[in-house]
Amino acid sequence: MEHPVIDVVSLYPHDMNIYGDWGNVLTVTRRLSLYGYTPRVHAYNQGDAWPDHVDLILGGGGQDTGQGRIAEDLFLRADTLRKLAAEGTPMLTICGLYQLFGEYFETVAGERIEGIGIFGVYTQGHDVRMIGNLVEHSDRFGDIIGYENHSGQTFLRDGVRPLGVVDREGTGNNGKDHTEGAQVGNVIGTYMHGSLLPKNPRIADHLIRTAATRRYGEFHPDQTEEQRTALERLDAIAEQAREVAAS
Ligand code: GLN
Repeated sequence: MEHPVIDVVSLYPHDMNIYGDWGNVLTVTRRLSLYGYTPRVHAYNQGDAWPDHVDLILGGGGQDTGQGRIAEDLFLRADTLRKLAAEGTPMLTICGLYQLFGEYFETVAGERIEGIGIFGVYTQGHDVRMIGNLVEHSDRFGDIIGYENHSGQTFLRDGVRPLGVVDREGTGNNGKDHTEGAQVGNVIGTYMHGSLLPKNPRIADHLIRTAATRRYGEFHPDQTEEQRTALERLDAIAEQAREVAAS
């Protein structure tokens, strides 16, 4: 029997893919396969043709220079991305792309890189980098664990919903208001590298469930016993990582 396809776009993996962010693509594709779907990964870099079909978008972090390199192309794709976001396409953007899904990022060197304004947030470069483990609590996903490394301090406009509240370890958006990340509709932005999704399978499953439901009208896993067991094993390993982070 044909397994239903889910088209996953990895956004700018050439320039925006640091501190293990590709692990998010690996996790989503592995879990999709174990749920009985066929993941099709489109690595989209500047100048590439835009894929015909998009169910889920994953974007990673990058150095300020990498953000500068993709900025022009991101602008060319801005309307497409804003339309997909408004329609409810699930997206996860980490650090550098989280910043550029906001209004702008002004680097510590004073260069201003315009964002595409999906999130009502703006980011100001800072001379002290925010580096280390990050643990936060989210109403939607429970405890989220990861790792941050950024110079940009991000501030949320009034009414913008953070992804979580940094209540134990780490800096988060700006080190001042305890917020971390942002969410609008099905689009999530966060400073969590780590990689994020292997250690936070609830977020991975949320993205997968949303993508499948939007494309096929329902999320309907069609698994063998082996696949179910393999998925449980992955979840148990994630739980080990989470216990270490919580201790
Ligand atoms: N260059 C950005 C900053 O330092 C993003 C870094 C990242 O993606 N880790 O704020």
